[in-house]
Amino acid sequence: MSARAFSISHEDRAKLIQGAFEAKKGTYSPYSKFPVGAALLAADGTLIKGANVENASYGGTICAERTAIVKAVSDGIRSFVGLAVVTNVPAAISPCGLCRQVIREFCHLNMPVLLVPADYPQTLKEGEEPKPGYTEGGVKETTLGELLPDSFGPEDLELPRQGDGGGV
Ligand SMILES: [Zn+2]
Repeated sequence: MSARAFSISHEDRAKLIQGAFEAKKGTYSPYSKFPVGAALLAADGTLIKGANVENASYGGTICAERTAIVKAVSDGIRSFVGLAVVTNVPAAISPCGLCRQVIREFCHLNMPVLLVPADYPQTLKEGEEPKPGYTEGGVKETTLGELLPDSFGPEDLELPRQGDGGGV
């Protein structure tokens, strides 16, 4: 466990990890052949699953993380306590930049983000120490703020502004 205090319980962690694996089954990724599953845990305990949904017009592709966020928000769920992401790669794979920004719209910067290896739970060899930032089972535990430092968010649009805009 890293020195940082994550506000996620063991139970919620397990729920998120399992949810991400289940979410990945919904992938539609015939082009990239890179299935991704994301699970979002809402403050009310609801687990929202999302998979990546690709498109023959590649720009229409939607990542798993954004699928989950959009499903939740459009159902009226806007308060989240954790996110887990898993791919078929046996290593921690991070959300893309676009997803980080979309997550930022609705989630606290200190919200835990669990990057789960495909071969979870990984086991450490005798005497081996987990890498910094990694926890039980080979999960990389980070936060939205670490993934998207110095970010722009909704509150920035509330700041007082100089002039009427449209010039110097
Ligand atoms: Zn993405």
